[in-house]
Amino acid sequence: MATSESQYENALARVKKAFDILKIDDQYFEMLRAPKRTVTVSLPVRMDNGKIRIFEGYRVQHSDLRGPSKGGIRFHPEVDMDEVKTLAFLMTWKNTVIDIPYGGAKGGVIVNTKELSLNELERLSRMYILKMAAVLGPKRDIPAPDVYTNPAVMAWMMDEYSKMMGHNVFGVITGKPVELGGSLGRDKATAQGGIFALNDALKKLELKPTTAAVQGFGNAGYTFAKFLFDDGFKVVAVSDSSGGIYNAEGLHIDQVWAHKQKTGKVQGFPGAKDITNQELLEVDAEVLAPAALAYQIDKENANNVKAKVIVELANNPTAPEADEILHRKGIFLIPDILANSGGVAVSYFEWVQNNQGFAWTRKEVNERLKQKMEHAFNEVYSRAQKHKVDMRLAANIYATEKMVKVMKLRGY
Ligand code: NAD
Repeated sequence: MATSESQYENALARVKKAFDILKIDDQYFEMLRAPKRTVTVSLPVRMDNGKIRIFEGYRVQHSDLRGPSKGGIRFHPEVDMDEVKTLAFLMTWKNTVIDIPYGGAKGGVIVNTKELSLNELERLSRMYILKMAAVLGPKRDIPAPDVYTNPAVMAWMMDEYSKMMGHNVFGVITGKPVELGGSLGRDKATAQGGIFALNDALKKLELKPTTAAVQGFGNAGYTFAKFLFDDGFKVVAVSDSSGGIYNAEGLHIDQVWAHKQKTGKVQGFPGAKDITNQELLEVDAEVLAPAALAYQIDKENANNVKAKVIVELANNPTAPEADEILHRKGIFLIPDILANSGGVAVSYFEWVQNNQGFAWTRKEVNERLKQKMEHAFNEVYSRAQKHKVDMRLAANIYATEKMVKVMKLRGY
C-alpha cells in the first residue's frame, strides 16, 4: 500500500491527465493543486476515568468555487492530514460529476472509536465542532458522516453548532437522523446510487451478472450487499475490518447482518469459509464492490481480480498502477467519484430540504437520485467513448470541463 503522502500526489496526477487531454492551460490546474484551507485542531476530551485525553482533528476545504465545500468526517486511528487532503480533493471532483452546487471538503479525527464509550464519543464529536465552528456553516462548509461516524454523531454535532449560534442550524451538517432534519433515503443513498450506476453500466455492457463480492460491511457495503441480495444476486463474499467470509452458493445477507450484530464481526458465520480481506478481492464473482478503505486493489493483486465490473463504493480503493491493469483486463470500473456519489447527492437534498423547511417523500428523494445518477453516468460514459479512456479518466475529464468553465466564469 502506498503512503498517504503519495495518495494526494496520485490523486493530482490522475486529474492532471484530464487537463492534458483537454489541453487546458496549466494555471488552472495549479489553482486546484493546493486546498483552499487546511485546519488542524487539538481536541481535549474528558474521558470517563476523569482524565483529559488530547485527540487530533482535521478539516480540509479543497475548493468552494462551485458552492460551499462539502464532505464527511472520518473517525479512524490511521487518518492523517494527507488522507484528508486527498479525500477533500476527491470531493471537489465528485460534487462536480454528480452536479450539485458544492465544492469539496473532508474532515478526520485520529481515534479508534471502538475504544470509546458512547459518552466519550459524544464529547469528542462536540469538541470537534466547537473547535471547527469558525470555518463551518450551511453557506460555508457542510460536513456529513464517513467511516465510523453516523447519524447519532451528526445529531450531536448539529446540536453543538446550534447552541453556539443560539438557534437551530439544521443545514450545517447532513446525514442527521430523520427526526432532526435528516432526509428520508439518506441512510441507503450511497448504496442505492451505486446500484443505479451498476444497472446503467450493465445495460451498456449488455451483461446480466448473478454473483457479487463486497468488501466492508458498514453503511455503504452492507446496504449494497443487501440491495444485491434482495435483487436475487448470489453475494458470495463479504468482509469487515476483522476479515471476510465466502460461500460459493451465496450468503444470506440478513443472517450475516444478525450474526455481526451478535458477535461484532462477519467471520465465524455458520456455513461460510473465513477468508482474508485480500482473498475477498480475488474471489470468483462478476461484480466486486470495495466499500471500506483506500488502496485495497493495487498492482500486486489487480491481475488476480476476476470481476467483470467493479463498483467503487469506497473512496480511493484502487491504487493508480492498478487502474491500467484492470483496464487492460477489460474490467469495467465505475470510479468512486461516480459510484458512491449518491451519498453526497442525497446529502445535498437534505440541505435543500433544511433550507426550504420542507421535507420530501422517500419516493421523491429516490426519483431525484436516480435522475442525477443516470445523468452523471451518461455524461461520463460518453466521454469514455469519445476519448477512448477508462471511466475514471472520463469522470475526471467531465468534471474538469465543468470546473474550468466555472473558474473562467468567475473571472480567473
Ligand atoms: P462505515 O463506518 O459504516 O463502515 C466501514 C466498514 O469498513 C466497516 O464494516 C468496517 O468493519 C470495514 N472496514 C474497516 N477497515 C477495514 C479493512 N481494513 N478491510 C475491510 N473492511 C474494513 O463506513 P461507510 O460509510 O460504509 O464507508 C465505507 C467507505 O465508503 C469509505 O471509503 C467511505 O469514504 C465511502 N463512502 C461512504 C459514504 C456514506 O455515505 N457512508 C459515501 C461515499 C463514500
